[in-house]
Amino acid sequence: MRGAVMYAPGDVRVEEREDARLVEPTDAVLRLSAACVCGSDLWPYRGIEPVGGATPMGHEYVGVVEQVGGAVKGISPGQFVVGSFFASDNTCEICRSGYQPSCPYSVIMGSIGTQAELVRVPHADGTLVPTPAMPPADMIPGLLAASDVLGTGWFGAVAAEVGPGKAVAVVGDGAVGLLAVLAAKQLGAERIIAMSRHEPRQRLAREFGASDIVTERGNEGVTRVHELTGGFGAHSVVEAVGTQESMMQAIRSARPGGHVGYVGVAHDVSLPGVELFFSHVHLHGGPAPVRRFLPELIDRIWKREIDPGKVFDLELPLDQAAEAYRAMDERRAIKALLTP
Ligand SMILES: [Zn+2]
Repeated sequence: MRGAVMYAPGDVRVEEREDARLVEPTDAVLRLSAACVCGSDLWPYRGIEPVGGATPMGHEYVGVVEQVGGAVKGISPGQFVVGSFFASDNTCEICRSGYQPSCPYSVIMGSIGTQAELVRVPHADGTLVPTPAMPPADMIPGLLAASDVLGTGWFGAVAAEVGPGKAVAVVGDGAVGLLAVLAAKQLGAERIIAMSRHEPRQRLAREFGASDIVTERGNEGVTRVHELTGGFGAHSVVEAVGTQESMMQAIRSARPGGHVGYVGVAHDVSLPGVELFFSHVHLHGGPAPVRRFLPELIDRIWKREIDPGKVFDLELPLDQAAEAYRAMDERRAIKALLTP
């Protein structure tokens, strides 16, 4: 099968890899209908995270089940399925409490690499959620978004306790930030402030439900959020970047008693204890338990209540994965979809 492999920062190649096959009796093998490049794939691409030799890439996926292991009961060949970027058994105490990425048996799909024609999914029964039928082609990007960026933006909003009547600020205008705006709208927020200085992303944020756009960053951005929220700060802030600046911007944009949902993968973030102590801000976040939200998200997409697939503004054949990475790195594309 063909698959994308990163050799070094800036060096992504599509090459022949060993075919995905069943390893454990709880596995499934999928033929991917679409894959994509994630903002988090850009960390190693930019050399901010190390690349440990030739590394298969990708962790978002939708596709048709080709094979299941002997212990798989709820998933069958021929079904169209969506899975989370963490495989998990979905039966242990941690999974049942809604924190599937922390399942003691979890497997991060990035270690398997889903930017490929085929993929092995561990814990198929726990990880995969079938759609009601074979989806129409125009729905596939939305379902693919549910696999990570929508689920992550949704978790950011839930972790920030977004709800009716609340003022929400979203730090970060990548696909996750934009879909956190969509989630905030769906969860009934009254005011949604998107922090973005890129015109095409501002437009999409508005389309997804943003009521205000703040272009300033850092403390100037914080001041703008306070001005827009009666001087108090937002009730809920979603942090969708993962840098020191974005994290502090998020914490300082929240009002006392407010909540920050942080879903940007933290890189060299350290929090000042005294400021945190006096802020009275709740912090909750981490790798999103996408599996918790998948049935509801698939249902909303299936009913065409939401179209998170709009974050894909570039579609390329898998063979051109290198160009997909380049376009996202240079911010020419919000998110690139790859068709095997
Ligand atoms: Zn578990």
